[in-house]
This record gives sequence, structure tokens and C-alpha cells, in this order.
Amino acid sequence: MVRTVRVGSADDDRYDRSKRLGWFDLDRVSGARVLLVGAGALGNEVAKDLALSGFRKVTIVDMDHVVGSNLSRCLFFSQADAAKRRAKAEAVAEGMLRLNRDCRPEPIVGRVEEMPPELIRRFDIVLGCLDSIDARLYVNALAYPARKVYIDGGMEGMVGKVMVSKPPDGACLQCGMNRTHGKIASLRFSCTGKDVVFHEPRLAAEITTTSVVSAVMVREALKVVSGHPEMLLDNAFYYDGQRNVSEELEIDLDPGCPLHAGRS
Ligand SMILES: [Zn+2]
Repeated sequence: MVRTVRVGSADDDRYDRSKRLGWFDLDRVSGARVLLVGAGALGNEVAKDLALSGFRKVTIVDMDHVVGSNLSRCLFFSQADAAKRRAKAEAVAEGMLRLNRDCRPEPIVGRVEEMPPELIRRFDIVLGCLDSIDARLYVNALAYPARKVYIDGGMEGMVGKVMVSKPPDGACLQCGMNRTHGKIASLRFSCTGKDVVFHEPRLAAEITTTSVVSAVMVREALKVVSGHPEMLLDNAFYYDGQRNVSEELEIDLDPGCPLHAGRS
């Protein structure tokens, strides 16, 4: 049977350019179930890349609401959202739908620590866009034993880091924590939610660093879901926009980490 292809039809295909990547698997991407934890500046950028890349089933968890100071860094938040103090998870879900009508985003307004632990089993991959180390460790402690790839991003000023945890082998997020992390483990930097405690102000991430970190996170997610674990980061990506350098940092499994009991 002869199939007729209209000249220029590739331009009508929303995913034509992605399909040219070769390793990109649209069926797997559109069928993957993604848990996106955190809908702040990084969560907005990650959600944007997920929606444009063809991910559909994205559940967004965040306890916070939109305020004016978010508007310089968050694509999906508007002045009206800030005036209404709208839930961030809901605003991000609506924004994803605006970008791609194929999306089926599901917002959950609440703390990730209050989610039922078995929730994680519903998903194929977890993306962390969190602002506290406690929350990161909580998600890590659920994701690793459940054998879910956990991609965590963080920024400070012009420095960004992405860590990819790939159970059942290799380091988890907790293995990469050093004493400095431990010292600030209980701090939560955002100051608009409940259980608010004010701490020393941190150097806020600016949007260009956030864009770099989010792009790396979603690219790693595309590799995982498309079935190319050999292309994944091993295990951390470090970016310094002030010195214009980026590096891949291998993190050793810490035998003292409670998630690898009995492993050498
Ligand atoms: Zn570990």
C-alpha cells in the first residue's frame, strides 16, 4: 500500500522536532506517570519542559500559594494568582494544560510528607523541585526502596545541581549529603506556607540558573522514560554560571546510608 505524505506535513506534527532526536520515544513519554514535587520557580520550569516534551500524566504536589515575589521567576503564575493567593500546584497544572492540551496534569495541594507513602508506587519517575533538605530526604527515602528514579534539582544564585538516583544500584540522594547539608537539613527557606519558621535569608536562585537546572532534569527524565539508562548522568551535574563551567560528579554509594543496609 502506498502511503501519501503531504509535503510540509512534518510541520503540522507537534512532536516532529523531538522525534528527530532518534532516542526519543514519544509513546513511552506520553504514557509515563510523573510525580513532580514542588511547584516553585524550578517546578514551573520543569513543568513547562515536561508539557512541551510530550509528558501527559504529571501529578504536581505543593503546599504553597502564589505571592507577588514569585512573579519574576515563575512562568505559570499571574498577578491575579498572587491576588487570590492561588495554590501553586493548581496554577502550574492549568499552565501545563494551556501549553499542551494533551496534558493531564493533576494538582495535589499539600505537603509531600503528608502524602501516603504508597503514593510513589503509582509513578514511573519522580522529579524533585524542593526547597528543603528534609523534604528531599523524605522523597528519596520513598523513591529508592520503591525503585523509582529520582531526579533532584537545586540552585543557589548562579550555581545549580542535579542529582540522578537510579535504584537498585548506585548512590541515592542521601549518600550525597555531607555535613553542611546536615546542618541545614531542618531549614525550610520558603516563607509563605504553614509551619513557617524564618531562617537566615538565602541567596535566591535567578531564573537563568533555574532554566539550566530544569532543562537538565527533564532531559534526564526523557532518557529514563525513553529507555536509555546508559545515557544518564552518573550521578550529579554541577553548574556554575559565574565561572561558566559545568561538570559531571560521580557520587559513591555510602555504606553507612540507611537505604543500602547490607550493601558493600
Ligand atoms: Zn544512599
